[in-house]
Order: sequence, then structure tokens, then C-alpha cells
Amino acid sequence: MEKLEQLYEGKAKKVFKTDNKDHLIVSYKDDATAFNGLKKGTIAGKGEINNLMSNQLFAYLEENGIETHYVETIDSRNTVVKCVEIVPLEVIVRNVAAGSFSKRLGVEEGTVFEQPTVEFSYKNDDLGDPLINDSFAIALKLATQEEIDEIKSMALRVNELLKAYFLRANIKLIDFKLEFGRFHGRIILADEISPDTCRLWDKETNEKLDKDRFRRDLGNIEGAYSEVRSRLGF
Ligand code: UDP
Repeated sequence: MEKLEQLYEGKAKKVFKTDNKDHLIVSYKDDATAFNGLKKGTIAGKGEINNLMSNQLFAYLEENGIETHYVETIDSRNTVVKCVEIVPLEVIVRNVAAGSFSKRLGVEEGTVFEQPTVEFSYKNDDLGDPLINDSFAIALKLATQEEIDEIKSMALRVNELLKAYFLRANIKLIDFKLEFGRFHGRIILADEISPDTCRLWDKETNEKLDKDRFRRDLGNIEGAYSEVRSRLGF
């Protein structure tokens, strides 16, 4: 499949049209941003890792009954995906307190929850992706109640599947962000699943193997991304 006109360039990916109206090509970059674009940098090799990792995880989720936008891998940075209408919600699932949850609620990082949490942020850079709830999402016409119910239930199933998958690689899935899209009337999983969008801690040492190394200037960022790659075996 061939790249036609570029539709969009985001912080970490470019998106191109193809000759199939149902399909797009996403092209992953090494650029990294944090704190709503205030911190910028590059992580060498990140585009390749995030692309291949997302594709491996999407294929695993598909095998387990979760429809995703993944179609086929073109090469290490480029993938054919279904052209969806993105639901403008960041859907965050947490198993362990960290990041904004810890900061906002005064809970120590690493506190394990009895059951996972699901939360929504309104995907809007100008507003700084504010935290909202179901009724706000409906009032803002971002999604219907039925879509929200489906998104929550899919997000929790994805959490169970990913937790098990990462544990086999000695990695604890602390939290992650998902995005969903509409495709021929169905809600399907879109965007990416990578160390940019997940918190991944070593099972024994709690060493951070994710983008917090970039956000918090912890060093060895490339090493952490490569470690995840080698543990997942791609
Ligand atoms: N996350 C993301 N994109 C965002 C915000 C959060 O991928 O714009 C991911 C983040 O990597 C983490 C989870 O969602 O795995 C929860 O992030 P949190 O709300 O704690 O925000 P942060 O501390 O990253 O600002």
C-alpha cells in the first residue's frame, strides 16, 4: 500500500491517506513531548519500538476478541490502520497509583488498587486535556451513553489482557491511555499502546521502563524502551 497525501502530523506520528478510503498509513516518529507539549525531545529508535509494540499488542488483543484499527505492518515505522473517527476522549485505566492520580489525590505512587479505575479526559490541547466524567462527555456530545458503556467495558477487558501479557515479560502494567474510534458504526480500539502511553515497571525492582524516564529526566530512556522491546521479543 502506498502513502498518498499527508492528512495530519501529530506529536509522535504522521498520518497519510491511501488509495483505500477505509485505510490510512501511520508513520511513527522519534519525537517525544510531555506536559502538553511544554517539554520536547527525541528518543532515538522510539518510533520503531512504538510501532512494532503497538502492532504486536493489537494482534494479541484481536486474537482475544477486541477489534482494533490494526490492519498490517508495512515496515518498522509504518503501519496500515483502519480509518476511524476518533472519539475525543483519552481513556485511562489504572491498576496502581502513579502520575496525575497520585499528585491530585495525595496517594503514594505504587499504591495497588483493589480494582482498576477508568477515567476520561477530554482530548483538547487548548484546554490541557481536562478530566471529565460520563455526563460531561455526553453534554459535550463527545460520545453517546451506549458508546461510553462500550468504551469502558472494552478498556477493562484490554486491561486484563495486557496485564497478563506484560506479566509474562516480568513487567507490571501500572496504568495506560487508550483511544477509541468509530468504524462502520462500531467502537474499535485505535491509536497506540507503547511505553509512551503506558506506565511499565519491572516486576521485581519497580524500575520504570516507560516515558516517565523522559518526563522526569531519569536517564537511560533509550535503554528502557529497548528493554521492553527485548522482553516482549519483537
Ligand atoms: N497518558 C498518555 N497521554 C496523555 C496523558 C497520559 O499516554 O496525554 C498515559 C500516561 O503515559 C500514563 C497514563 O496515561 O501511562 C496516566 O497518565 P496520568 O494521568 O498519570 O498523567 P501524567 O502523569 O502522565 O501527566
